[in-house]
Amino acid sequence: MLTLRSSFVFSGGAMARTRLLLHVLLPAFLACSQGERIEGVGEGALWFEGARLIVGDGSAPIESAAFLVQADSFVWVGRQGELQPPDGAVRVDLTGATVIPALIDGHNHIGLVDVRTRTNAKSNYTRDNLVDQLDRYAYYGVGAALSMGLEADRELAYQLRDEVMPGTARFLTVGRGIAATPMAGPPTEARLGIPYGAATEAEGRAAVQELRAGGVSFVKIWVDDRGGSVPKLQPEVYRAIIAEAHGLGMRVLAHVGQASALADAKDLLVAGVDGFVHTVRDRDVDEEYLRLVRQHPDVWTGPNLPGTPVTQVDLAALSETLPPEQVAEMRADLERRMAQGDTVPSELFQLQCRNLRRIHDAGMILGLGTDGTGDAFGVHQELADYTRCGLTPHEAIVAATSTNARILRLERMGTVAAGRSADFIVLESNPLDDITNTRRIREVYLRGEPVDRAGLRTRWTGSGQP
Ligand SMILES: [Zn+2]
Repeated sequence: MLTLRSSFVFSGGAMARTRLLLHVLLPAFLACSQGERIEGVGEGALWFEGARLIVGDGSAPIESAAFLVQADSFVWVGRQGELQPPDGAVRVDLTGATVIPALIDGHNHIGLVDVRTRTNAKSNYTRDNLVDQLDRYAYYGVGAALSMGLEADRELAYQLRDEVMPGTARFLTVGRGIAATPMAGPPTEARLGIPYGAATEAEGRAAVQELRAGGVSFVKIWVDDRGGSVPKLQPEVYRAIIAEAHGLGMRVLAHVGQASALADAKDLLVAGVDGFVHTVRDRDVDEEYLRLVRQHPDVWTGPNLPGTPVTQVDLAALSETLPPEQVAEMRADLERRMAQGDTVPSELFQLQCRNLRRIHDAGMILGLGTDGTGDAFGVHQELADYTRCGLTPHEAIVAATSTNARILRLERMGTVAAGRSADFIVLESNPLDDITNTRRIREVYLRGEPVDRAGLRTRWTGSGQP
């Protein structure tokens, strides 16, 4: 048996062949008993052993795990010693490491910002820029990310959604989101004109039908008057949107604004919304809201907590993907804040922490989204922010893996389990001890193949060294 620790790739033909074999052979694994050798697979299979495995569903970690990956899938997951690897499988020793499922970002707006040039413009919405941002996700162990409604080129967005691009994160999209108007703002505002404007019920229904025709399953609505600068999506219009979407088997995800979030969130719950992509953030949630939350146990929130300033630990990870001059600026900013004693979380952050804990205690389903514009690393910052608000590291990881997969209907993602897509991160240290260990990444595998992280680092920073 061969032993190997890092990069190799499958040929397409071998992948197709082994996938076919698997369907025939899978039941045979189930019949294997203690210590038996897995028969029948081998060529191209990968046997990982020795790691602590955090499955992603909240169950207790497996301290010395073993799992078999064939083509793009996990085919067997268990304890070391339970079964013997098949002949010919490549053995990967992960002793001392921790494995978690690949993370999922349930809310972003990638494409308009180009991280490399630090510009924000519609003209940035190109295949090259979107793939660059998906590569950044892959680098940081994120296997899929949902773009929330600012698709400047809808056809391109649908095309990327329908492609399987080796070595990078999956691009998910809600297409164009729906607001009362295509969102006002200064003419330089990059998102200007992208959303649907729905002033009437008929316009709302028509937008939903067009999205359905594009293969979209989640409808994004903005219920926000942007500080009084634009009209807000009206209750009768979002009710029509929700009814139309539900009739077509789609779900509706709401952005609530900062001004009247609690009142709007209550009415949206009554109206049948399926999820929120922000927490209530204008005031503390009250008993009436929590009662509505309990009455709607299938509704979820992906609260993106207001960005906390970059820390020393963040900088270490960010320096792997950002040009040195950007990192130097961030470091200077951090040092300035430290010198001023500016270390207390903002009032807005503390308010959202309180609301996050309350909806969590009321049993609301918690996903995770960053609202990021290209900074894929934000998923790790959001995980750390969850624990800052009182969730356990394990709860944070579950939110970003199995819960996000469930609410976004990514049936093959979110856990390390037989039959799922082999999307996982090999970590140097245990994130249950310290959530910032999710950044101490040794390897990322997406659909059974290692991501070329050294190559990506070289492309972005000029140095393959971490
Ligand atoms: Zn957003």
